[in-house]
Amino acid sequence: MPFFYYYDPTYILVLIGVVISLWASAKVNSTYQKYSRTRSYSGLTGAEAARRILNSAGIYDVTVEHVRGNLTDHYDPRARVLRLSDSVYGSSSVAAIGVAAHECGHAIQDEESYAPLRIRSALVPVANFGTKAAIPIIILGLFFGSSYTLIQIGLLCFALGTLFQIVTLPVEFNASARAVRILGDSHMLMEEELQQTRKVLSAAALTYVAAALASVLSLLRLFLLFGGRDRD
Ligand SMILES: [Zn+2]
Repeated sequence: MPFFYYYDPTYILVLIGVVISLWASAKVNSTYQKYSRTRSYSGLTGAEAARRILNSAGIYDVTVEHVRGNLTDHYDPRARVLRLSDSVYGSSSVAAIGVAAHECGHAIQDEESYAPLRIRSALVPVANFGTKAAIPIIILGLFFGSSYTLIQIGLLCFALGTLFQIVTLPVEFNASARAVRILGDSHMLMEEELQQTRKVLSAAALTYVAAALASVLSLLRLFLLFGGRDRD
């Protein structure tokens, strides 16, 4: 671990972030488990529902594939593949159809060049670099006699990672809103099932909110620790 993850009063901010993330993760797991056992009236599998949704949106060049793991579902815009996990691909549960529809929401965003998705995609490389480089750059800055410039660059790098987490939020909320609308309009799910799907997708969205919040709190901590240093 980076050496300044030692204990200091601002460490409470990191701990708050950890607690919020753990709570959100437990919440999504329990909600998902519950509605994974609720079979939908339509009897469609996640993969079948995804294919139908994509076709009805006029998207025929996105393939639907199975991917190993749990909650590993995602849409890959480069390969134009929608990958559905073990408990989604072949399952007819309300949770499976909800998650499949959510991923279709991302494919439709891609098709429509939805602005937040574009911004998010553009941020991926910078955010990846920023997240990895932030702490080493700050440490380097501290080594070189608390170099104001290096520390500021390090903080900026970390902020890029935080910005990415924040831009992810409208993308995720919008994909879920599209999913619920499409499932309702197409009558793939009944009203009662839509309510259950909303619960699953809201719980999933909560994990993104928690991640963004944890990132903001960590950024705030770094600013409290290093942001106030005077120009050298
Ligand atoms: Zn998503």
